[in-house]
Amino acid sequence: MLKINNLAVRYGAIEALRGVSLEVKIGEVVTIIGGNGAGKSTLMKAISGLEPAFAGGIAFEGRDITRMPAHHRVALGISQSPEGRQVFADQSVRDNLLLGAYLRKASDPSIALDVETQFTTFPRLRERQHQLAGTLSGGEQQMLAIARALMARPRLLLLDEPSLGLAPLIVKEIFAVIRALKQSGVTILLVEQMANQALKVADRAYVLKTGEITSSGGARAMLDDPAVREAYLGKH
Ligand code: ATP
Repeated sequence: MLKINNLAVRYGAIEALRGVSLEVKIGEVVTIIGGNGAGKSTLMKAISGLEPAFAGGIAFEGRDITRMPAHHRVALGISQSPEGRQVFADQSVRDNLLLGAYLRKASDPSIALDVETQFTTFPRLRERQHQLAGTLSGGEQQMLAIARALMARPRLLLLDEPSLGLAPLIVKEIFAVIRALKQSGVTILLVEQMANQALKVADRAYVLKTGEITSSGGARAMLDDPAVREAYLGKH
């Protein structure tokens, strides 16, 4: 579904990614694990079109999207839930969801159906649908960011650190949702510092270290790999 070949991204003189190659197959959950500043968010932005590639290529379903503008990538089925949630704080929960469907005409009846689907997946958002998004708790805002990304009906969902700054119980809830999305057939690329959780839900994983992929493999095998455990799982 997604094939990245030798990707490099630069911020001026800073080489945030170099020689990154990876793939995501249809129906898979693939996770990218790596520490602070490894380049995880940069990779997500390069896939969604928010950061330009300096070199290399990105193909989605066999089509070269390397230079395609972000909104065209959304139309193809790539949707991102950004790091740090970034909901529209002064708009209601419902309006945030509607914004996720911005490529469809406002009168399209499928939008209301999709809002209903999100409320079924995230009952707390239904209860708070008329509340301003900025008044939600961190966990609820994360749910809203994921639900908003799903309103674009993605074939590939990009989740950038969905557990960031959340209490353990909420993290559990978020990962339960990711598991349910996987079962419903959504293909997911998940960036996480919580490697333990991410490796439990993923099929395969890549380790990103200072802009380069240093290892990759089955998620189960990674979870048992002493080097990965020591570097990313806090040795427990
Ligand atoms: P974190 O988990 O801390 O968010 P990350 O793995 O997502 O880290 P990135 O945010 O992708 O890492 O950053 C990769 C590198 O690129 C870092 O060295 C960072 O300082 C640098 N960087 C990121 N964004 C910019 C920017 N807009 N301008 C300049 N440098 C940037």
